[in-house]
Amino acid sequence: MRTQRQVVDYSLRKRAVLRELLAGRVGTYDVCDASPYLKNAARFHGEPTDERCPICRSENLIHVHYIYGDELKQSAGQARTLAELPVLAMTLREFQVFVVEVCLGCDWNHLVEQYLLGRDGLAGGADGGPEPGAADGDGSTSGSVRRRREAQR
Ligand SMILES: [Zn+2]
Repeated sequence: MRTQRQVVDYSLRKRAVLRELLAGRVGTYDVCDASPYLKNAARFHGEPTDERCPICRSENLIHVHYIYGDELKQSAGQARTLAELPVLAMTLREFQVFVVEVCLGCDWNHLVEQYLLGRDGLAGGADGGPEPGAADGDGSTSGSVRRRREAQR
């Protein structure tokens, strides 16, 4: 998505959880605990993927996109379909997206990534999409975004 920025990838953390599971240090009941709300969000707003569930391997994972931000008002914390996000990104200055993967077969769920969307991303002049390392705050672009965020508080 064009205004996507400050991407944080949680695949390392996910791999760590799966390793713990394989080693028997955590049980499937610890990690397969999707709430009824999350499963409903997956059914009604979820984005099907081609990726098999790493736990039961019988269902494909579904990605649920949760949106957060002051501008969203009462919609903050709700799930949105992937198709709705570009529309929101053009009408709002900035909001946070959390992507959660869910398996409806065994209730496995894990955070996949988070990122910012919104018109503020167009002003930065970044046209090459998310840059590697943008999340560590070492680039001038993410620095200016952070200053803007602080100024809004
Ligand atoms: Zn599963």
